[in-house]
Amino acid sequence: MTRFAYVNGRYQPHADAMIHIEDRGFQFADAIYEVWSVRAGELMDADGHFARLERSLRELRISNPKTEAGYRLVIAELLRRNRVRDGLVYLQISRGRARRDHAFPSGPVRPTVVMTTKRLDHAAAQRRADAGVAVISLPDQRWARRDIKTVNLLPNVLAKQTAHEAGAAEAWLVDEGGQVTEGASTNAWIVTADGVLVTRQTDHDILHGITRARIMQRAQALGYTIEERAFTVAEAQSAREAFMTSATSFVTPIIRIDDRPVGNGAPGSVATALRAAYLELI
Ligand code: PLP
Repeated sequence: MTRFAYVNGRYQPHADAMIHIEDRGFQFADAIYEVWSVRAGELMDADGHFARLERSLRELRISNPKTEAGYRLVIAELLRRNRVRDGLVYLQISRGRARRDHAFPSGPVRPTVVMTTKRLDHAAAQRRADAGVAVISLPDQRWARRDIKTVNLLPNVLAKQTAHEAGAAEAWLVDEGGQVTEGASTNAWIVTADGVLVTRQTDHDILHGITRARIMQRAQALGYTIEERAFTVAEAQSAREAFMTSATSFVTPIIRIDDRPVGNGAPGSVATALRAAYLELI
């Protein structure tokens, strides 16, 4: 079966899909992206991801080349062509193709739009959540606008690789003040001894996770108290529970941080309940 990608208005065989070498996404990481999880053929938290897409474009002063309805049409067609019912949709928009020069191109440039889909094994992700995962802590080496979902991901890539080489699923990134910002591709949470959920406040230091926002709503509806504040690795290691959230991993319990087990070293009841509550939404 041929897998298709969408590039600037055309559906192309994935293996042949290309952008120009002077695309500013390739040259400067002058591009933003968005990822939707797909379950049973439906986009999860679609509105939140569309809203963040618009915000990322606005922050980089890239004019939005499509309407939301236009994106939705392409997404539906790509999912249909690629027969994806469980997986993800990836969208990247760069400022476009222009002669290489750091400043924005002087003339009008058409943004580059690329969309791909991927099948995901949600059953394998569930097994990972049932077992719980380990994370390691590393210095946060990213730029100062982590709230914009840009493709400028090299520090995240290096941190994730270091985590994998250490046998961990994720790296928790730590700022200069010793506080955890977030994971390389997930938001970070702990549950205190009193059962309070803690996750870092949404400022410029972290990506404003759509799953994070949804879990906050669900947790509040279930009666949990939530504190939006930073926490240290030491506080997380001695917390009752820790977990991480993202569009593709939903809620995943963390059972080890560096060399210390969290709680009793097994997935916690709060994280497990929130994962179930999130999946019930679909
Ligand atoms: N933080 C970072 C750095 C990410 O890259 C991601 C997702 O890719 C998240 C958090 C989670 O965000 P969301 O729940 O919107 O997927």
